[in-house]
Amino acid sequence: MRRVFTAAIAVLTVTTAGTLVTGAPGRADARPGKSRTVPASAAPRPGSPGLGDPYFPDYGNGGYDVDHYDVRLRYEPASDRLTGTTTILATATQDLSRFNLDFLLDVESVRVNGWTARFAREGTHELVVTAPRGITNGQAMTVVVTYSGVPSETLVDGYTGWTRTDDGALAVNEPESSWWWFPANDHPLDKATWDISVSVPTGVEVVSNGVQPRAPLAEAGNRTRWSWRSTKPGATYQAFLAIGQYDIVTDTAPNGQPVVNAYSTTLGERGPAARASIERTAEIVDWESGIFGPYPFEAQGGVAGPVDGIGFALETQTRPVYGPGFWRRGSNTYVVVHENAHQWFGDSVSVADWSNIWLNEGFASYAEWLWSEAQGEGTAQELFDFTYADYPADDEFWQVLPGDPGAGAVFDGAVYDRGAMALHQIRLAVGDDAFFRILPAWTAEHRYGNGTIAQFQALAERISGLDLDPVLTTWLFTAGRPTPASAARTATVPAQPKSWTRIREAHELMTH
Ligand SMILES: [Zn+2]
Repeated sequence: MRRVFTAAIAVLTVTTAGTLVTGAPGRADARPGKSRTVPASAAPRPGSPGLGDPYFPDYGNGGYDVDHYDVRLRYEPASDRLTGTTTILATATQDLSRFNLDFLLDVESVRVNGWTARFAREGTHELVVTAPRGITNGQAMTVVVTYSGVPSETLVDGYTGWTRTDDGALAVNEPESSWWWFPANDHPLDKATWDISVSVPTGVEVVSNGVQPRAPLAEAGNRTRWSWRSTKPGATYQAFLAIGQYDIVTDTAPNGQPVVNAYSTTLGERGPAARASIERTAEIVDWESGIFGPYPFEAQGGVAGPVDGIGFALETQTRPVYGPGFWRRGSNTYVVVHENAHQWFGDSVSVADWSNIWLNEGFASYAEWLWSEAQGEGTAQELFDFTYADYPADDEFWQVLPGDPGAGAVFDGAVYDRGAMALHQIRLAVGDDAFFRILPAWTAEHRYGNGTIAQFQALAERISGLDLDPVLTTWLFTAGRPTPASAARTATVPAQPKSWTRIREAHELMTH
């Protein structure tokens, strides 16, 4: 789903492990319920520099909870220069002497509740903010950060999550994306709503999440300001920008919601295949709603990025962004099914920490198998059998544990393909009736929240009345090729399902 960031991950993990060991309080200490046991005279403490994620310990920050980001930007495609003011509405979850934001660009000023605050850099992406007055637990915080920079030249260990293109830029990345364009509490545990507005030279389009609260507005100097609003809480990496030359196609979905699709004008002969895929978004969301439960967001759509943009696709909230590679051999609805399945599995129900990535990628990949079945292009069982046969027992593929792949393998192919196989084995164990009650129950119980694999197991066991520990242990947490319940069928190499090639081609771009 993202670019390779392995080198930086290794460095960050080492750095922050040291930081955490020195005793910075974790989020668990900062829950309002717990802090009430702290004497009122307790000295304010620094908010922790991370949320203790086992894979990315310094992603996100402790001591406060963000409700809303107001991101107001000015962008120059010719130079990639970005200037901005982000206003963060948050609530303190402990008495704070200082707190961190995750951010990389050059900061000009920070104000907290109107007061000028001091700020400093720590580590690779930490902005440490010290307000002149202490902040008490439960207090509302309004944090205003002004900044500027050239995001494509702002590197962390040689890497930028901001993609500059010939005609603009794409801010699309996972798990880190906001570092290059707005200061944030950058972890799925802290969800918020957001407003994004960007001023660009007139003639340039800006596409982002949600709905447009107003039409693009002419500004002085032959500029236009585009505004987008996300009214449902999401993780910071779900926010995106696509700036450049786009044809924008709007419509109304069967459920009455606005559909906004955008197609880079650079796609050339790939353009029709992109449209033949993304224009089916409303149909696909409607179909998925019948299986996963009500669509959780306020708008729908997709963005076909430019030829010199990203090489992957990402489930950005309400409007996935697709790289041009998906259309290289014609239309591909499987990637549209995958990214929109993430609106339920990943976006509305987000990982509690990144070790639970199977809850995103296993489910979105299995949605492709269900779509294949619905389209008459091969059943989920046939796709299971063929995928199983495609990876020989001695393939490295079987050494990655989808239930705990490690920070460097979050987007490994095994999380997707073996992840989908695991869900199919759960389906076989509990039966179709229970399985298709488990999926919408999961999205309902954790809507706009977070989840863990253990919580999913508990829910599936509650609905099915079965002990699912054996099947989850075998398929998610044990290295080596398991023997499936359908072993008799896979004794011989099965026929290739019609959907196989397009699913394979999509996964080659999604994974690494
Ligand atoms: Zn995915």
